[in-house]
Amino acid sequence: MIVAKDTGLNSLNGTNSAPSVDTAQPVQPTDRGYDDHGEQPPREECGVFGVWAPGEDVSKLTYYGLYALQHRGQEAAGIGVGSGDQILVYKDLGLVSQVFDEQILNSLKGHIAIGHTRYATAGGGRWENAQPMFRMASDGTDVALGHNGNLTNYLELMAEAAEKRLVDPADEPSDSDVMCALIADLIDENTSMEEAALQLFPRVKGAYCLTFTDGKGLYAVRDPHGVRPLSIGKLANGWVVSSETAALDIVGAEFVRDVEPGEFIAINEDGIRSRKFAEATPKGCVFEYVYLARPDSVINGQPVNATRVDIGRRLAEEWPAEGDLVIPVPDSGTPAAVGYAQASGLPFSQGLTKNAYVGRTFIEPSQTIRQLGIRLKLNPLRHVIEGKRLIVVDDSIVRGNTQRALVRMLRDAGAAEVHVRIASPPVKWPCFYGIDFPSPNELLANNVDQNNMVEAMREEGGADSLGFVSTEAMVETSAQPRETLCAACFDGVYPLGLPAGNPNAEQVRLRQRRLAEEAEQTAAGEVSSNNPEEN
Ligand code: SF4
Repeated sequence: MIVAKDTGLNSLNGTNSAPSVDTAQPVQPTDRGYDDHGEQPPREECGVFGVWAPGEDVSKLTYYGLYALQHRGQEAAGIGVGSGDQILVYKDLGLVSQVFDEQILNSLKGHIAIGHTRYATAGGGRWENAQPMFRMASDGTDVALGHNGNLTNYLELMAEAAEKRLVDPADEPSDSDVMCALIADLIDENTSMEEAALQLFPRVKGAYCLTFTDGKGLYAVRDPHGVRPLSIGKLANGWVVSSETAALDIVGAEFVRDVEPGEFIAINEDGIRSRKFAEATPKGCVFEYVYLARPDSVINGQPVNATRVDIGRRLAEEWPAEGDLVIPVPDSGTPAAVGYAQASGLPFSQGLTKNAYVGRTFIEPSQTIRQLGIRLKLNPLRHVIEGKRLIVVDDSIVRGNTQRALVRMLRDAGAAEVHVRIASPPVKWPCFYGIDFPSPNELLANNVDQNNMVEAMREEGGADSLGFVSTEAMVETSAQPRETLCAACFDGVYPLGLPAGNPNAEQVRLRQRRLAEEAEQTAAGEVSSNNPEEN
C-alpha cells in the first residue's frame, strides 16, 4: 500500500531563517555585486537509513536519522514502514522537516522502517522520483527501496525492465525505480526477497548503497566497490543501517561495523545475517572524506574531521602564505582552516557567518537579490577582517563563481589581502557515482591555461594567491590505501567505468582521447628533440 502527498515543488515554502547580519557595519555590495550565478557546491545525491526494532517508534527514529542525513539530499524525503505483510510509504518533495509532522509520523506504524533523503538529478525533481520506491510482487509482497549512488549499467537494466513491461522508458524511471521493479519481479511464492536480491545484485554495476524491506525483514546492500559509505548500528532492541555513522550516534545506536563492499545484510527476528554477493574491490569515494560526509562521521575507521584537519595542515606545508589571520568558509572549510592555523602558527578566527538555513529556496530572485549572490549565504564580519591579510580556507573550487564573489566581498569588507587555500585538488572531471558535478566544460579548472592552471585560476578568482592541496596529501590524510579509493573527479581515472548513453560521459571520453593524443604528441616531440639525427 502506498500513501503519498503530491504538493509539487511550487507549494514548498522556504524555511530559511533570517540572514545573520553584522548590523554594526554592513558591507555594501559594490556595483559589481556578489553574484555567484547561483553556484551550488558539489552535492550528494542521497542518504539512506533503515531500522528494525520491534516495540520502538521506528518512523520517528527514521525521521531523526534522516534529519542527520539531510546534507545528503535536500529536495525530497520519504519513509516506508513495514508491519508484517504491509508497507506504508509516505514521501514528498522538500526537506525532512517540511515533509513530515507529528501526525504523519504517528500514522506510520510498524517495526521496520526505511528512510531516504534525495537530491534530484537524473529523472529531475519529480515527485515520482522521491524515495523509497514502492512496488508489489506477483505474490502480493510489498517492496520498498531507498538508494544512494548511481548505476553505470542503468540503460541495460532499464531495457530489461522495459522488456518485461515493468517500466515505461518514456517515463524516464530512475535507476532506483528500475532496481525496485526488478527485485519485485523476481519475488514469487518460491523466491523470497533475499533470494531475489542475491539474483539481481551480482548484475548491477556502479555505485549503490541500499536499504530495502518486504515488511518482514530489513535488508541492506553495498556495491562491490563500496563507493558510498554504509554502516550498521545496534539499538538496545534492534538494528539500524545508515549512510553515515553520525546518524547512528544521533538515534542512540552503537556503531557495530561498516557493511562490506559486495555484502548483503538481512535483519529480522532471527538476528542479523550476512551474505557475500560479489568479491570486494574497494574504491571508496575520497571526496566523502574531504567534503561530502558530516565531519562527525567515521568512514572505514577514519574520523572525517581528523582527515579534514590534517588536510589543512598539509595545505599549510604545501602552500604557505604571509598573512595575519586564517578564516574558514563555513561550515565545510572549518576543519581544514583549523589545521592550516595549527600548522602555520597563524591565528584562527571566524570571519564569515553562515546564514543558518538548510537546503534550497525555490523563490525566484529579483535582479537586485541576485546581485547579493553569495551574501545570501555568507556574511563577512568586518570588525574581524578589516585591514587583515586573510588566508581563506575553502573545500573546493568547481565553477569558480563562488570564489570570485567571495574574494570580492572580503575585499569590500576591508581585507588587505585575500589568499585562498583549497582543501582539495582542482576538480576537473564529473562524477558518475552519486555526486552532482557540472559537466567538464563548466569546471573552472578546464577553462584556463592548462600550462599555468593554478595561477590562471587565481587570476579568474581575483585572489592575491591561490593554492590547492595535492592529490597525494589528500589521499594520505584519508588513511586509506590509494588503490582502494576513487579520486576520478580529480584525476579522471574512473575505476567503475563510465555509464553508456550519458552526455557528460561522452564529453569525458572525448576529453580523455584528446589528452591521450596530446600526451603522445608531446612524448614523440621529446623523443625527436633528444635524437639529434632526426633534427
Ligand atoms: S568521482 Fe569524485 S565524487 Fe565521484 S566517487 Fe569518485 S572521488 Fe567521489
